[in-house]
Amino acid sequence: SKHFAVRRTLRNFADRNRPVVHAVDDVSLKLRRGSVTAVVGESGSGKSTIARLLAQLYPTTSGELLLHGKPTRVGQGRAFRAYCRQVQLIFQDPFGSLNPTHTVRYHLTRALRIHDRAGRTADDLEKALAALLERVHLTPPERYLDSFPHELSGGQRQRVAIARAMAADPAVLLADEPVSMLDVSIRLGILNLLRDLKERLDLAILYITHDIASARYFADETLVMYAGRMVEGGDSETVTQRPAHPYTQLLTSSAPDPDRIVADAKARAEAATDPAGGEVVVEEEESETAGEPPSLISPPSGCRFHPRCPKAMERCASEVPPRFDLADGQWAACWLYAEDAPKQAAPQEASA
Ligand code: SF4
Ligand code: MG
Repeated sequence: SKHFAVRRTLRNFADRNRPVVHAVDDVSLKLRRGSVTAVVGESGSGKSTIARLLAQLYPTTSGELLLHGKPTRVGQGRAFRAYCRQVQLIFQDPFGSLNPTHTVRYHLTRALRIHDRAGRTADDLEKALAALLERVHLTPPERYLDSFPHELSGGQRQRVAIARAMAADPAVLLADEPVSMLDVSIRLGILNLLRDLKERLDLAILYITHDIASARYFADETLVMYAGRMVEGGDSETVTQRPAHPYTQLLTSSAPDPDRIVADAKARAEAATDPAGGEVVVEEEESETAGEPPSLISPPSGCRFHPRCPKAMERCASEVPPRFDLADGQWAACWLYAEDAPKQAAPQEASA
């Protein structure tokens, strides 16, 4: 169906061996086919937990999951395998997720077999392998099939990991910081590949990132997380250009200019493929945000951002702000947007 959706309300995620951690609290999100949804937040905000819960790598204590608009029971057995086929996960570290003692052929063949897509003959399998590598632009396929992970670059390894996910023919791809460990010069190529797959295969992509500038470039919709809660959402252009929540405003003011990032990445990619072959110097721009995210074991009362918020009011320390709807589908969980709040609270033009 065209209107594929995953929605989940999650509360009180608990791990038997640790204190009860509300890693994500009352989070709800909807992924649409042919669309990228970014979840942006600092490390420790709970954003990776969302991907792992949706991939069913972690158990949940409560919540609801809808696939193709219908409630889905995940657990074990056939229903669980069917779910895993539809919802694939790729990780930050493509080296860690590939077995160093096995070739690309082994990884992809295994994935095709698990998902029953290897075909009946050796010839079918060979064709399926070639198609997967072509899909992620590792061509000619023969050059990569018998390589071991250490013989490939970081970007090529991430392409193999993406090909392995595509072996399942999924409807949903959960991408947890898929480019943050890669060289800046090749990040754009991987994001463009994912965008191409989204369009050609009508995928719903969840893009987990700490980099709000990349969300503007890559995602259709952006959700911002702080301390286990969603604090703002809307279309990416609006959220990154006119952030409403003081936390998003902090993120965008400390993030490097997204237009410059794209221009730089393009220039670097060109330089890297320049046959004249000048040395490419890549400098990572650090983005610092003031203060530390709070512990999720005992999060602050009221608005969890209140200890760091420059606009905090009295009620912020005691009352949890609900979502307030703004114009054009943008929303923010912040008391500045309550009807009785002082009127200086318009969304702010991002300074970047
Ligand atoms: Fe700041 Fe209050 Fe809004 Fe929280 S609810 S972000 S503390 S103004
Ligand atoms: Mg993470």
